[in-house]
Amino acid sequence: MRVDLHLHTSRSDGSLEPRDLVRAARAGGLDVIAITDHDAVAGVLEAQDAAPPGLAVVAGIEVSCTHAGAEVHVLGYFVDPRNTKLLAYTSEAEESRRRRVRAMLERLEALGVGVSYDDVLAAAGGRALMLGRPHVARALVAAGHVSSYSEAFDRFLGDGRPACLPTDLISVAEAIELVHGAGGVAVWAHPDPTLFDLEIRRFVAWGLDGVECYRPNAMPTERMLLETAARDLRLLRSGGSDWHGAWNGPLGGFSVSAADVGPLLARGGFSTA
Ligand code: AMP
Ligand code: FE
Ligand code: FE
Ligand code: ZN
Repeated sequence: MRVDLHLHTSRSDGSLEPRDLVRAARAGGLDVIAITDHDAVAGVLEAQDAAPPGLAVVAGIEVSCTHAGAEVHVLGYFVDPRNTKLLAYTSEAEESRRRRVRAMLERLEALGVGVSYDDVLAAAGGRALMLGRPHVARALVAAGHVSSYSEAFDRFLGDGRPACLPTDLISVAEAIELVHGAGGVAVWAHPDPTLFDLEIRRFVAWGLDGVECYRPNAMPTERMLLETAARDLRLLRSGGSDWHGAWNGPLGGFSVSAADVGPLLARGGFSTA
């Protein structure tokens, strides 16, 4: 069984519509996927409705948290995509992300690489509800201010770079509560190793259920440290490609096994036998 529990659609900063993503996932040989858009659940029901035979779609979200000035992403799995508080959060996030993008555009203007808000919307293809740094990066490339997407992050938009602003949406404790309130389990996505050592016990005390141990291009030592911590702290393990588009390779090119994420899937009532 091949599983990928971290995928983005065009409802946030991914390139594929939910209905196209499920088809591509099945074509890539995946059996179970999770839709985990940034601060959005709008793609979940659509993906579930369009899922081809043989593909199970887990309802997910990737909540953008700001923790001591750093961005921490908390994945919620098996959330109810109709949960009132969750939907209130996602609409607030939509609004707040628009304001953040406008503020980032002011910074870029001052840095001599101005693009307009309409340029960003155009770069988002008019479909993204959750505007973010990737859409701004694409607008910078389209305007010719940078020659590549990665240059946009390296020079302007990456963490700590001059046009980067925190999402400032929610704290880690609140995100865990939000996910639990919507019936889900909360998992720390792609933890930064230093922050992980410093904060994992605190996050567990706040109710964190799991940690993302498996992702493409991670150092084997990093994976082993996370697996060991998960065992010691009795945390669920998750994993996925964090796929955003074709530039991440084909869907199914990376997958995790039922052995690795079976206990997590069991929490959502998924049998991996
Ligand atoms: P935001 O939620 O607006 O802060 O954007 C975060 C997203 O930006 C991540 O999920 C990635 O898709 C992308 N991203 C962040 N840092 C980088 C980077 N250094 N290079 C490429 N993409 C990045
Ligand atoms: Fe992203
Ligand atoms: Fe993330
Ligand atoms: Zn992600």
